[in-house]
This record gives sequence, structure tokens and C-alpha cells, in this order.
Amino acid sequence: MTEMSLSTVMEFLEERYPLRLAEEWDNVGLLIGDPEQSVERIMTCLTITPLICREAIEEKADLIISHHPFPFHAIKRLTTETVRGRMIWDIVTEKIAVYSPHTAHDSAPDGINQQIAKRLGLQQITTLYEDKNEKAVSNEGTGRFGMLPEPILFGELLEKTQEAFNQQVIPYIGDPEKSVRTVAVGCGSAGSFLEQAILRGADAFLLGESKYHTFLEAQFNGIGLIVTGHYISERFAMERMAELIQTKFSDLTVWASEVETDPIKYLI
Ligand SMILES: [Zn+2]
Repeated sequence: MTEMSLSTVMEFLEERYPLRLAEEWDNVGLLIGDPEQSVERIMTCLTITPLICREAIEEKADLIISHHPFPFHAIKRLTTETVRGRMIWDIVTEKIAVYSPHTAHDSAPDGINQQIAKRLGLQQITTLYEDKNEKAVSNEGTGRFGMLPEPILFGELLEKTQEAFNQQVIPYIGDPEKSVRTVAVGCGSAGSFLEQAILRGADAFLLGESKYHTFLEAQFNGIGLIVTGHYISERFAMERMAELIQTKFSDLTVWASEVETDPIKYLI
């Protein structure tokens, strides 16, 4: 078994999900750990929770790649008296590193939004905010915007979403009988992208999570809104990331957390 350093894995992640693509407010990259430490077992997950923390410790992970940053907010006191403090304490005590790509992963050329756009079968995919940086590669940046191969009914796009994400409950706003062609995409809590989706003339906007007023804003503007659920819109990409790392570093053991599930349950 060849010894692999954390920094080697970090180089691979940086290549695929360049941290310069992260939003300014974000907290990305190596958040806990020593780049020189050796890594044999890597677990990916969407969010570090007490349950996931336990899995990492029991399964002897050396590195957790958590899409959502952990920690995210500044910390002034690190004790075991709070749930978060306890998790960080346990992770550090067990010498487990934590790396979070977050919005760099959302925006990367092969990132989450690109993957969602492909899943919907969109063509001529560009970033949603293409004017942000003229020199940017068209598939590198915030959100995605693309065209369906041919106009379909909004109701068909809803069904397509249901199928693509294997999710029965899909909250939406819009007329199922209306024809749609252009679609904007934003994983997670992407409600703030709605304005840009309208500016780009999108017929529909698919996002992970939406506030009530964002639904209304979409209705006022006659744009269809499709909400997959935050977890559903992002977790699949952490499973894919685990596969990619495993393929690249065959000596390592890499898996996507097996205990992680959508924390939100639906009574149907
Ligand atoms: Zn998210």
C-alpha cells in the first residue's frame, strides 16, 4: 500500500473543483486537518451531522469530504458543551481531516449544476451568470442555463424532474399546459438566482430549495419554478465524487456516507 498524503488528494479536488470558483461568502477547502497527514480511508457526505461523525469515527475515515462546510461560522470557543463543539472535538481528536468544496463544487465545469443540467437533457449549457467574468469558460461559474432539445409542456418537465431525481414530491409554480424550452438550474438554496433566471428569459427554473416568497415572485413573473429538495439536488454528486476519487486513487478506500439520508421526511 502506497502512502498517500492529504495534500495529494487535495490537489486532485482542486483540479476538478477549483476553489477560485467558490462564492466570496463561502468557507471552502481544507477546514480541519494537516495537509501532510497520510490518508487511507475517505468518506464523502453532503453535511456533517452527529450521526455522520459517528460513522466516520467507527469506519476509521482519515478524511471527510463534506459538500457543506464544517465548520462554516467563526468559532470563538471549542468545547464539548455544544453539539457542534462536540463534533469538532471528536473529529480533531480522531485526527480526521475535513475538506469542503461547496460552491466550488456547485460551479465547477463538471460540478453539481452542470450535472443537473445534463440530467434534464439540456443543450447549449452555459453558466447562469455568464456576464460575471467574460473570460470564464462557459461551463465554469454560478448556476446553469440551457435549452431543451425541443419545446415541451411544463407538466412534462415536472415529470422529467420527478424521474431524473427519483423524487415523488415536487413542489412547483407554473402552468403544466404551458410550453417551455429554456431552463435555469441552481442546486441547493438557489432562490437568489431567480432574478437572473428571469433576466435570461428562462421559461422554467429548477432549484433545490425555495422560500414561499420566491414561489410567488416566480408566479408574478410567469416563470415556472420546480423544487427538487435541497438534499436531492446535491447528495447524488457526493456519491459520484466518491466514485471519481476511488477511480483516481485505487489504493484508497472511498465511500459515500451510508447513514446519510434526507433529514426532511414527507407524510404522503
Ligand atoms: Zn447545499
